[in-house]
Amino acid sequence: MAKKWVYLFEEVAEAEKYTGNWEGVRGLLGGKGSGLADMTRAGVPVPPGFTVTTEACNEFRKTGKFPDGLWDQMLAALKQVEKQTGKKFGDPSNPLLVSCRSGAKFSMPGMMNTILNIGLNDEVVEGMIKLTGNPRFVWDSYRRLVEMFGTTVFNLDDEIFEHPMAELKTRKGYKLDTDISAEDWKALVGTFKEVYKKHIGSDFPQDVLKQMELATKAVFESWMGKRAIDYRKATNISDDLGTAVNIQTMVFGNMGDDSGTGVAFTRNPSTGDKKMMGEFLMNAQGEDVVAGIRNTQQIEDLIKNMPEVYGQFMEITGKLEKHYKDLQDVEFTIERGKLFMLQTRNGKRTAKATVKVAVDMANEGLISKEDAVQRVTPENVDSLLHPQFDDKAKKEAEKAGTFLAKGVNASPGAAVGQAYFDADKAEKMAKEEKQDTIMVRPFTKPDDVHGMIASKGVLTSEGGATSHAAVVARQFGIPCVVGASAIKIDLERRVMEVDGKAVKEGEWISVDGTTGQVFIGKISATAPSLEEQTELLTLLTWADEITARKDIRILPDGRKAPGVQVWANADYPKDAQRARSYGAQGIGLCRTEHMFFEPERLPIVQRMILADSSEERTKQLNLLLPSQRKDFDGLFEAMNGHPVIIRLIDPPLHEFMPDEEALFEEVVTMRVKGDTKGPSTGSGQSLKEKEDLLAAIKGLHESNPMMGLRGVRLSIAMPEIVEMQVRAIFEAAADCALRGIVVKPEVMIPLTGTVKELEWIQPRLVRIAATVLAEKKVAKLDYKFGTMIEIPRAAVTAGEIAKLAEFFSFGTNDLTQMTFGYSRDDAERNFLITYVEQGILPVNPFQTIDRDGVGKLMQMAVNDGRKTRPDLEVGICGEHGGDPNSIEWCHIIGNNYVSCSPFRVPIARLAASHVALKYSGTAMKEDK
Ligand code: PEP
Ligand code: MG
Repeated sequence: MAKKWVYLFEEVAEAEKYTGNWEGVRGLLGGKGSGLADMTRAGVPVPPGFTVTTEACNEFRKTGKFPDGLWDQMLAALKQVEKQTGKKFGDPSNPLLVSCRSGAKFSMPGMMNTILNIGLNDEVVEGMIKLTGNPRFVWDSYRRLVEMFGTTVFNLDDEIFEHPMAELKTRKGYKLDTDISAEDWKALVGTFKEVYKKHIGSDFPQDVLKQMELATKAVFESWMGKRAIDYRKATNISDDLGTAVNIQTMVFGNMGDDSGTGVAFTRNPSTGDKKMMGEFLMNAQGEDVVAGIRNTQQIEDLIKNMPEVYGQFMEITGKLEKHYKDLQDVEFTIERGKLFMLQTRNGKRTAKATVKVAVDMANEGLISKEDAVQRVTPENVDSLLHPQFDDKAKKEAEKAGTFLAKGVNASPGAAVGQAYFDADKAEKMAKEEKQDTIMVRPFTKPDDVHGMIASKGVLTSEGGATSHAAVVARQFGIPCVVGASAIKIDLERRVMEVDGKAVKEGEWISVDGTTGQVFIGKISATAPSLEEQTELLTLLTWADEITARKDIRILPDGRKAPGVQVWANADYPKDAQRARSYGAQGIGLCRTEHMFFEPERLPIVQRMILADSSEERTKQLNLLLPSQRKDFDGLFEAMNGHPVIIRLIDPPLHEFMPDEEALFEEVVTMRVKGDTKGPSTGSGQSLKEKEDLLAAIKGLHESNPMMGLRGVRLSIAMPEIVEMQVRAIFEAAADCALRGIVVKPEVMIPLTGTVKELEWIQPRLVRIAATVLAEKKVAKLDYKFGTMIEIPRAAVTAGEIAKLAEFFSFGTNDLTQMTFGYSRDDAERNFLITYVEQGILPVNPFQTIDRDGVGKLMQMAVNDGRKTRPDLEVGICGEHGGDPNSIEWCHIIGNNYVSCSPFRVPIARLAASHVALKYSGTAMKEDK
């Protein structure tokens, strides 16, 4: 028996038997052919047809001829199609028309040939006119066939057909194709046939079988056309696959009032609501629906026009959803009362609909919870949590030329407000004038935070992803763009400029923290809130359940474990509350120094720094102790039952002092004026006090402060500060414990480089903890002392460090800075963006962990640390903790948790579950 080259759409089981699996069927029948066969199997009325296999194509390519048996099999299949449709190919009284389309295993949109309306000839045209009563449409279809034959089967230039048509339109004064009458089309068919004959040397084939044969050969040949070859090269598709050819009945929705056509989504693609959404037109073709010339009807009105068809349509689309287990985007045609589905595919949808459809389908039992969780991307969640600009409005703004500049997308979301160039002004206008403000600065410092918090958004012209502005903005969920270096900010003239475009203080700007773009003027945005998004909350609960499975991960040392938990970086009780409400299971970093910047505390901190004896320093610190205790008390209360990692003071002391240049100016002015007392308001400091302060600031000056006296080094130089902090932590912890709150404090020592530093400081602090607990008569409290790993030496000597440290937390901001030797404050502005653009770096390493370098150090630290202390708790609290790719790395190396800003917690929860599923049950393998 000759080889089987042709499969009717209903012969999918045979194709499966022959190839062994669905992948094989896709290879044999192509994507389109297997899809049509699959729909037919699902009980969907697809216009009948058959597929010529890719194997036939490959034979044809070898010999230039149809292989033995192919033509006979096509004729036999055609007979079957005639039977199924009750129509006959080439019969003017009841004609069957077919389309002939290519269809490779992988979609190659528009790269190969399609020929429609095969089966029309001079006689059939007359029959079709009788059937449709629409000569205009029939003559138009016929001229398209002649044209398609010329251009696709014989590769004639489009122009030779377009020219007579354009000439006709000019002659008759027509503007649009729709102005062309039936008579005109008929005349054009005559002209087209003449053109065809002139160029091909023979008449347009009136033999409909010849049409089918030539069209099939043309599709085969188009596989080796230049367009298709170039496309395959670009997309790495093998030339050996070949294309299938689909011969399918054409159905017409314009055959009278019992015909029609439409498009629909099985659920609302914008909201996800389980309600069909679509439109249709009676007695029309598909193009009419899309073209918008006639007013379409809503899909539910079909029940009035054709109740039975409507019922069938609802049943079929229900079946399609069940079969494909997803929201479907369908095209359909009704031909003389009979419904046909022309196409179905998974429908595109908004982030909101993605979540709702996934959760609903899991609740309906259509998909598993794991599937639901995997269908939603971290980007979907991101866009649901932050205000986003309207895409259309943004495009219009781009067109209108209001784009100003692009910087680093430091904290996502859309912000619209009036630009103010310093923190005080931004705060004042926001608070007193109730304006929406955007704080614009070259860069920000800790004493700018009040202006940032009061603003809707933040824009800086300097700094990168871990700059102060970026870190603070993320922490507070404020949209932020940093390092927009094209912008020149003139703080004197209160104006910012880019290439002649200027924005004066008080003028409106729009800042897109998701993309890094900045626009002049207002762009409309929408703002959602997590609490109101029930489906998203449900989905995240499922994500957590997956991550928490005790055996979902195999650690590098072979033990089974859950995936990575998500904790939050939070400095204040209200951030901790938000972190909890967003699902954080702990606090991974409380930066205590932020508390020192409170306006009433800063002067005490400054006096403490200026103290010239340990007694004086301790006296000032004792004044700070009650407020620190209160801060910690609030954090422990908010995190009842969950761990709270409090980092001891980290930054260099000069950060707490006034700006040196400004102070110098004040001193000079006072000296010139002979003013020794100073103003009665404001700081109220005398000249002598200011001079002392200036001298102290000069004394604190370091050439490289980020590598200077900070972190544990500062604690060793001035242990009184951290001693006060540890006392405050344990007094608060004990007080909370006595109130029945479950407290789990973890004291974190920053910037350790050698275990000797820990040996020096940690025992003193442990003694204070024990003393306080004894004073408060708290017998049992679950606490830990640990360290940050943010200096490469600490990572390399982690085995030693773990002898003292009971936990590690990777400070990947500093670890990246020190591993690459790139300044985290300047690199993005100066060269990093260029490095990424030039491919020298694959991504910005301050946003996504550099697995080959920084990541290797982390991996080594976890492994060596756990050799010393098998139950070592390991986390990450650098900005990478909220980045899905970095979360994956943390999962792989065996971190217990990641910690990120409260606003990124939901994204991180989803990402953690994705990676848990990705690696579940399999041996750990690195995936970049
Ligand atoms: C870090 O270095 O990653 C870190 C969290 O500390 P900071 O950003 O405060 O230096
Ligand atoms: Mg750090």
